[in-house]
Amino acid sequence: MADKEDKNEENVGGTFYVDSQCIDCDLCRETAPNNFTRADDEGYSYVFKQPENDDEIEQCREAMEGCPVEAIGDDGNE
Ligand code: SF4
Repeated sequence: MADKEDKNEENVGGTFYVDSQCIDCDLCRETAPNNFTRADDEGYSYVFKQPENDDEIEQCREAMEGCPVEAIGDDGNE
C-alpha cells in the first residue's frame, strides 16, 4: 500500500501520487499517460497532472490496481 508520507517529490498535489517504492516498470505511464510520467534523472514515476475527467480517473485507478509494488495511492487529499 502506498504511503502518502513517502511521495516522490515531483507529484503534483491532489488525490493520486506515486511513492518511493516505484520500480520504474512503466505500467502506469502506459495505462494513464495523461497523468503519469517518468522522472528521468531519478528513474521513477510521478503524477504530473491529476485526472480531470471520468476516463482519466478510470485510467489512474487501473494503474493503481496494476502497479506491481503498490506504489500508487489515491488518498493524497486526506
Ligand atoms: S506501475 Fe508502479 S512500479 Fe510501475 S512505474 Fe508506475 S508507480 Fe512505478
